Amino acid sequence: TKSQLLKYKDKATVTKDQHQISLLANVGCLSEISQLSDVGADGIGLFRTEFMLMNASEMPSEEVQYTLYCDALQLLDGKTFTIRTLDIGADKDLPCLPLPEEDNPALGFRGTRYSLIHPQLLKVQIRAVLRAANHGQIRLMFPMINQVEELDILFDIIETCKRELLEEERGYGELLYGIVIETPAAVLNLPSMLPRLDFISIGTNDLTQYTMAADRTNPILTKTYPSLSPAILSLINLTIQTAKPTGIPISLCGELGSNPNVAPILVGMGIDELSVSPTSLLQLKSSLGNHTLETYKTWSQQALSIQRLDELNNYVSHCR
Ligand code: PEP
Ligand code: MG
Repeated sequence: TKSQLLKYKDKATVTKDQHQISLLANVGCLSEISQLSDVGADGIGLFRTEFMLMNASEMPSEEVQYTLYCDALQLLDGKTFTIRTLDIGADKDLPCLPLPEEDNPALGFRGTRYSLIHPQLLKVQIRAVLRAANHGQIRLMFPMINQVEELDILFDIIETCKRELLEEERGYGELLYGIVIETPAAVLNLPSMLPRLDFISIGTNDLTQYTMAADRTNPILTKTYPSLSPAILSLINLTIQTAKPTGIPISLCGELGSNPNVAPILVGMGIDELSVSPTSLLQLKSSLGNHTLETYKTWSQQALSIQRLDELNNYVSHCR
């Protein structure tokens, strides 16, 4: 029950043999941040900045965003703070930003692709984040990245922002940079991108949509092609195998991580950080402490060898 879970609130998330996992929260506004200590989060693994624009009539100015990020840093008090740049387009429409007319919006200008055709919007956000980083550590990650050429453009924009801030004699701080792994191309192109990255985060919601070519907003399709599937587990495993030798933190921020039967398997595969909705956090913290890392590794090997959905579901139902 909920009151039984509360005893985990101030404890680190550890396996039975004391292997530590960073358990972070997916949030979209300041009020959610102030509640994070109630659920024992180690910080924020995904701050969905587009949510702050949902009801806005115009794009928040650099000053407004700067204040928001500084307030968040203060509330977090040294805990991990991961900001994702605007992720709009497709299912994420905003009243203040017009989306281009496209036949296939989910395959069109969304996430970083949208940002790169509107670099002014992106620059405002990056400048605000750089300035806020003068007051505390911030990790910045980019959604919907496919290939290193996108990083070339992004890092050019970041350099421009830094140069401008220097010229204006405004302070800024160095950031840690990451990408959200949401397409099979991002997994396969990871070797060329890793040298530029300080962390990665696997977004299983979109990784599933783009691997299965199945609209994530269509309930019939999401039932037919769930994230908990041999193909998605293989892609997660390939991501981890590719990134592990670099030693950078490997995070997972999609819904799949909030399933208490799947989280141990992900940890067994080598995920270092799980970022989930705040309401799932305490349950995960309790589940992950039930067995040793060795057990989770065995479970993950077993799960990776299963080739059918029903068998995988059945297997995972015992992993707790
Ligand atoms: C994801 O795609 O898994 C993810 C975490 O991001 P969002 O659900 O906001 O697209
Ligand atoms: Mg996504």
